[in-house]
Formats: sequence, structure tokens, C-alpha cells
Amino acid sequence: MPTALSFDVLVIGSGASGLAAALSAERAGASVAVATKGSLQSCNSSKAQGGIQAALGEDDSPEQHAEDVWKSSHETANRELVEILTSEAPAAIHWLEGLGVQFTRDNGGYRLARCGGASRKRLLQVGDRTGHAITVALREAFEVGGGTELAHQPLRSLEQTQTGWRATLENKAGETVHVDAATVVLAAGGRCYREAQERGELSTNHPGATGEVTQIALDLGAEARDLDALQYHPNGGAWPANMLGYSIPETTRAYGAVLLNADGEEFTDSLGPRDAVAQAIVDEVERGKGVETPDGRPAVYLDTTRIAEADAEVSLPYMLRRYRAGGIDPLAEPILTYPVLHYQNGGLVIDANAETTFEGLYACGEIAGGTHGRNRMMGNSLLECCVFGRRAGRAAAEKARA
Ligand SMILES: Cc1cc2nc3c(=O)[nH]c(=O)nc-3n(C[C@H](O)[C@H](O)[C@H](O)COP(=O)(O)OP(=O)(O)OC[C@H]3O[C@@H](n4cnc5c(N)ncnc54)[C@H](O)[C@@H]3O)c2cc1C
Repeated sequence: MPTALSFDVLVIGSGASGLAAALSAERAGASVAVATKGSLQSCNSSKAQGGIQAALGEDDSPEQHAEDVWKSSHETANRELVEILTSEAPAAIHWLEGLGVQFTRDNGGYRLARCGGASRKRLLQVGDRTGHAITVALREAFEVGGGTELAHQPLRSLEQTQTGWRATLENKAGETVHVDAATVVLAAGGRCYREAQERGELSTNHPGATGEVTQIALDLGAEARDLDALQYHPNGGAWPANMLGYSIPETTRAYGAVLLNADGEEFTDSLGPRDAVAQAIVDEVERGKGVETPDGRPAVYLDTTRIAEADAEVSLPYMLRRYRAGGIDPLAEPILTYPVLHYQNGGLVIDANAETTFEGLYACGEIAGGTHGRNRMMGNSLLECCVFGRRAGRAAAEKARA
């Protein structure tokens, strides 16, 4: 007999968006379970390094933040979702601080950096392990609450019932586990790991980023948008071998690193929108102005020697450690870089409460579409996870208990 469990809210995925949703649903009084494919820790969110955006600078505002998102998306984002994202960003940061996240500070205020496509300094960081700090805080808060963890139990199928939803999971022993829930939050991330494997390319992503939960929702009939718009991170690590596919934080460029071709010339605005910078690198290599890595891969230089040592020590210590372990000191010599598959811009269509086109089925984080349109800005994904994860959790709890 398959095991059968029952909760008000079932969350699928334990990245930042799933944990934010689960915690919010639980705090809203719902009984909650988080089912995830691997351990609770394994996800893309914990790999995020650079930071999270919020308009907290004196010269900044949520409206300005929204304008930058809109422009970077080439006016393809859902304006309502963008405005929610940017207006709730400061509150999301304070919520994370309340959970114990300690953002890096400078002269009594937040240390803010300018990321690609941004008109202001707006990126908060926790050193260069921001995603790790956020997921640890969310996980610890969820673990001390009354929620249930269903780790190593991937979602295999989902169906609507008279009272909500029935999810079919598979446990480590290969047994079927049925979970009945009034509402379900899909927070299973994107698909760039699988997509890169199919293309024979490198990816920055965690092996769990395979997209089958999106497919389950599409098969049910849920609507999606921009699923073809996959983002290349402009700065994948191209050398040394231990850094292949590593996402060199955009904060390297925020703190002064610039892209150079084989002749040592700057060929693009290093802090332009992601798609523009990635395309400029590909074009430069195609023009014959790239360089070759020792194992014959295409690359250009990222001149990291322009970063001040003090900035690197505060904001890039993990990146420095990783490169130095591979025998290269980025503060002493430029590093080699080439775009790498990174992020699924589109996803399931959601409304302001992160509800999909199915009642009682919510989606938040990378699995959802609209907030970034066809081109996401760096630092807005962790933010989306928190803002829409919280909204999804609260709305799912409310509907479940209505
Ligand atoms: C290397 C790297 C650096 C990044 N840096 C930044 C940054 O600095 N700032 C920023 O804003 N964004 C950054 N991003 C993007 C951002 O981290 C992610 O887009 C975001 O964290 C995704 O969160 P999520 O909760 O939607 O998904 P994830 O964190 O990917 O979590 C998805 C979860 O779903 C689970 N899952 C998958 N399939 C199933 C299934 N069938 N059943 C059950 N569970 C399943 C997974 O195991 C995982 O727990 C970075 C991404 C990477 C890879």
C-alpha cells in the first residue's frame, strides 16, 4: 500500500522560493510539508553568490528599480509583477534580517554595488555567498517550526481532486508516497542543468535543475510564458579546469573588472544588461578577437586586476579562494571567461499572489515567468524568491484554510 499523507499546503522544492513559501504558509497557520528531490540544502539558491537587489540607497527608489527591470527585460516583463517585486524588496530584506541574515555593511550602511543594467547601486551582499546565507537562515527558521520535511522524494505526478490536489512522490526506496493538500506551491526551479547537458555545454546550475515539475504543470494545462528565453551568464569560468562553468560573480565587474579582447581592448560596457554583455563576448570571439584557453576553448579576458584589494577581500573572498586553489590569482592577472548557460527567464504564468492559471496551484522562484520578462537582471532572482515565495505561502495558506 502506498503511504498517504495530508497537509493544508504542500511545497515542491527547497530552494529560497520554496523555503520562503513554506515558512510563510506555516506562520499563517497552515500545516505544511516541503517535498524535495535531494537533501533540503541542494538547490541553485544556495550557490548564488553576487547578491540581492533592493532600492535602499539614498538616491534610489522602488520606482527606479522597476524602471531598470523593465528596461533590462526589453519591456517584456509583467509590469504588475515588477512593481510588486521592487516595492516589496526593502521589506523582504528586513524580513531576511529578522531571520538572521547579516548583509555586508560599510560606513554604518549597507554595502551596495551596481549590477548590470542598474542605474543605481542597489545590490546587497553577504560577502560573495549571499544565496548560502539566505538559504541557511530560511532553512533554520523552517526547521524550528512545525513543518514536515519530505527530502529525497521527487514529485512524479500531480492531479486535481475534489478537495484540492494529490501529489505522487517517490521515496528513496522507490516507493510511492501520496500527499493530499488543499493547495500546492511549485518551487522546483529552472531547467538549465538538463538543457546544458542536452546541448553539450557547461552550466552554472545544480544537477537538480532539470525542469520536470514545469513539464508536469504544462501537461496538466497550466499556462507558461517565455520558456524559450534562457539566459547565459556573461562570465562563466573558462580556465583553470576547476573553474569550468563557475559563475564569476557580476560583482567583479561592479567593483571595477572589465572585459578585454585579445588586444587588451574594452569591447563592451561591462555593466550592460546580461544578454547584451553575453552577446558581445560571443561576437568578439567570432570576430577573431577572442583568446583560447589552454584546453582549446574560446574565451575573452576579464581584467580582475582592476579590483581594489580591499573590495575583493570584503566582497569576493570565496571567488578569490577558488581561483587561487586552481593556481591563478585574479588580483595579479586577468582571468579567462566565456558565457555559460545559467537561468530560465520564463516559466509558469502567475498572478499577483503567485497563483498559476489553476486555482490552488501556486508557483514562485525560477519556475515562474513574467517578473523578468525575457531577460533577468542579476540580483533579482533571490529577491523574486523571497517576495513571491512569501506571497505564495500566505495565499496558499489562506485558500487552504478558507
Ligand atoms: C551559480 C549561481 C549563482 C547565482 N547567483 C545569483 C545572485 O547572485 N543573485 C540572484 O538573485 N540570483 C542568482 N542566481 C539565480 C538564483 O540563485 C536562482 O534562480 C534562484 O535561487 C532559484 O531559486 P528557486 O527556489 O526557484 O530554485 P532552486 O534554488 O533551484 O530550488 C529548486 C528546488 O526544487 C527541487 N526540485 C527540482 N525538481 C524537483 C522534483 N521533481 N520534485 C521535488 N523537488 C524538486 C530542487 O531539488 C531544489 O530543492 C544564481 C544561480 C546560480 C546557479
